Amino acid sequence: VSEREQILEELRAADKLLLTTHENPDGDALGSLLAMHEILRLMGKDSVMFMAANQFPLPHEYRYLPFEEVVHDPPGDVDQRTVVFLDCGNLDRMPVDFLRKAGTHILNIDHHHDNTRFGTVNLVDPEASCTAEILYSLAQELGVEITVPIAEALYVALVTDTGKFMFENTTPAAHRMAAELLETGVEAQRVHRHLYEGLPFSRLRLLARALANVTRYEDAGITLTHLSQEDFAAAEATEADSEGIVDHMRSVEDTAVAALVRELLEPEKAGQRKVSLRATDGRVDVSRIARGLGGGGHRQAAGFTTDLPMPELVERLRAEVGEQLVPAG
Ligand code: 5GP
Ligand code: MN
Repeated sequence: VSEREQILEELRAADKLLLTTHENPDGDALGSLLAMHEILRLMGKDSVMFMAANQFPLPHEYRYLPFEEVVHDPPGDVDQRTVVFLDCGNLDRMPVDFLRKAGTHILNIDHHHDNTRFGTVNLVDPEASCTAEILYSLAQELGVEITVPIAEALYVALVTDTGKFMFENTTPAAHRMAAELLETGVEAQRVHRHLYEGLPFSRLRLLARALANVTRYEDAGITLTHLSQEDFAAAEATEADSEGIVDHMRSVEDTAVAALVRELLEPEKAGQRKVSLRATDGRVDVSRIARGLGGGGHRQAAGFTTDLPMPELVERLRAEVGEQLVPAG
């Protein structure tokens, strides 16, 4: 039996489910969570969405999404629930103890090629543009009608994970899915306005500081910027305000790899930096670099958290990117 059949069978059979996703959720994480919740409700299931309390408030662009029903604590009957992980490549990205208990029955639905297959049943499709694309096909196979709320949640996931249909994961299937969601009743312009307009001014102030801090390492084709705690303070910005900055690095000529290095702001994470990597084409696999430093991701978009000091971190990135650009031998 294929993994797909197994997942379909599990979803048909389960009565009570608990849905979750990775920490610092992005559009695919949140859209997939909402879409799956609604799909299961239409199937008559008892579905609960879980996200830890410290993940709220969500980044500004996602606050309009209907998360009124999300819970921040395990429900009393959690042991009887099938746990569904969406868009989560490995369990390190979900630092919540009750979900990591041995014996938890986990359905792992994801599109990261480096997914560690931590589930009891795993459906990992690296060809899917986003996790929501997998859910879209599962819903159709389960005979669930794609209602407007489901379509809107799926569309948020699709448009954000493909970088507005510009990244390399933008396949014909992704465009077909978009077209069908629009036919269902998604108003693209309204969704785009929520996601990409009306953002806090602090974002622009933080971007200004990031642009002022750019360094180019021409030997390795790296365009990198750094944001310190002082930059965040001066911009009166939150960590979520750094979203999208790395794409400005990526748009510069002769860039093979774009990087944003930012200091984490939580007191208990002092000294740690979050690194976002983007490859502009297929020459460099940034997920390999991220995995070597404890993170992961996709070939062209990956990330990790490190306590390496800045000079060592930059040296490491230059060496690894350089090595991939000019294969030995
Ligand atoms: P971002 O740079 O936007 O935070 O993340 C880009 C992609 O890299 C994410 O979609 C995710 O796949 C991956 N990623 C980012 N941070 C981590 C991390 O700490 N661990 C893992 N495994 N993947 C990450
Ligand atoms: Mn995703």
